[in-house]
Amino acid sequence: MPVIAVVGGQWGDEGKGKIIDLLAGRAHVVVRAQGGDNAGHTVVNARGKFALHLVPAGVFNADCDCVIGPGVALNPEVLLREMDALHERGVSTDKLTISARTHLVMPYHLTLDRADEAWRGEGAIGTTKRGIGPAYLDKVGRSGLMAGDLRDPGRFRRKVAEAVERKNVLLERVYDAPTVDANEIADEYLRLAERLLPHIAESGPLLERALRDGRTILLEGAHGTLLDLDHGTYPYVTTSSCTVGGLLNGAGIGPRHLTTALGVFKAYTSRVGAGPMPTELDDEIGQRIRDRGQEYGTTTGRSRRCGWFDAVAARHSVLVNGFHALAITRLDILDQFDELKVCLAYELDGRRIDYFPSDADELARAQPVYEALPGWFSPTGDAHDWNDLPGAARDYVRLLEEALGVPAGLIGVGQEREKTLFTGALP
Ligand code: GDP
Repeated sequence: MPVIAVVGGQWGDEGKGKIIDLLAGRAHVVVRAQGGDNAGHTVVNARGKFALHLVPAGVFNADCDCVIGPGVALNPEVLLREMDALHERGVSTDKLTISARTHLVMPYHLTLDRADEAWRGEGAIGTTKRGIGPAYLDKVGRSGLMAGDLRDPGRFRRKVAEAVERKNVLLERVYDAPTVDANEIADEYLRLAERLLPHIAESGPLLERALRDGRTILLEGAHGTLLDLDHGTYPYVTTSSCTVGGLLNGAGIGPRHLTTALGVFKAYTSRVGAGPMPTELDDEIGQRIRDRGQEYGTTTGRSRRCGWFDAVAARHSVLVNGFHALAITRLDILDQFDELKVCLAYELDGRRIDYFPSDADELARAQPVYEALPGWFSPTGDAHDWNDLPGAARDYVRLLEEALGVPAGLIGVGQEREKTLFTGALP
């Protein structure tokens, strides 16, 4: 009864979508457990290239149950658009379940997200402005609306009216922004609900059955550990918990059931949005990584900041997640470099440290201490197994494994599903 959690070990965009798509072929249930449509996975498989934001990547396996778990912030309009796009390309969403506990992103959350970022000015977080943060804020503030609320139109209307009354005070008096209309919002959401209701259910019984029957459950992470609300580079973080623990909680499965925690790491580092990134390369090498890696966001199209692999940050991620194995993706992007560097420690105010500081200002001052390795200057994309990789590429992966104290179970050498090497280290 394997329960496998696939979690990003860095600042997101590690290539989780491909790994999840690969493992989903053998899974019975795939659960998206946290985040909203502010995250995006790119999946390239036999059916083509897909950008997923809310639908779990298990959707390409016709036998797989896909669950949007209680920990997700769900924008129903975005979900329906994504479902339509999948249907147009012949992908069925019949086996999609939305947990009745999943919180809804409401139109005023998008308005508030934009207003709050504008209000922060220079200190803006760089959110995707999809309303996810404000939706979680309402959830924590116990004034959110859940997918299950859509089942009772009268109650839904009352709850929207109550929420809107408070939001309008905030919009008008704090943000000096236009107010919203409760009836319009309720009408719109109840119209969307006509298509969503067949999918809304209690997700607990489905998961309980799957566990009891020894079926394989895959927990699909979004974002990355360094963006985690508790363990990331606060305040430049996302508003959900993107760690293994967060996924278990967001899905509604106790930790005892977990069998494999797989940490997905790019062979280098990238970051979208504001916040410290010690190994960022603001030079020709950084630009080459960006160009070779086509480092532009799935959700926003924003150009990603790129740099060398940061093993200090990655070790922090290994600690908070307890990874059994690593999936190292995009090794092929490093094919054309004379020399590669891996950050093994930081220098902070003249002192060498080997931990990931909690203070964003300290992290911004941290200077990377690198170990340099020779590049391999040959394509890794044709490798079918570990021994096909050039010696220098194997040494590079070995150094990452050693620095992190975790074996690499999967190595990505290209976008396609089959461009993945299994080393035998995956439990
Ligand atoms: P995610 O959110 O973690 O799934 O990451 P994204 O989808 O935003 O970005 C990952 C990108 O890298 C996607 O375009 C993937 O198809 C691609 N990708 C994943 N693994 C590899 C790999 O090993 N090599 C190459 N070249 N691309 C990869």
